[in-house]
Amino acid sequence: MGRARRREAAARRARAGAGMSERAQPFHCPYCGDENLFPREGAGAWECRSCLRSFTVQMTGMIPHPGGAE
Ligand SMILES: [Zn+2]
Repeated sequence: MGRARRREAAARRARAGAGMSERAQPFHCPYCGDENLFPREGAGAWECRSCLRSFTVQMTGMIPHPGGAE
């Protein structure tokens, strides 16, 4: 019963992931380097509880492969 609903939710997540709104997860704070990061719900941001900064991670585009070959 609940299985179909879960599949729907997964499909919805996959569709959302294809858009620009996908949130990248940082593993270290870009300011102090600590791993004490928590998602800041509603703001689409992350907060570092070590240096008390809040920030977002945004992908700005794709780059050419550094190897040169396609
Ligand atoms: Zn920090």
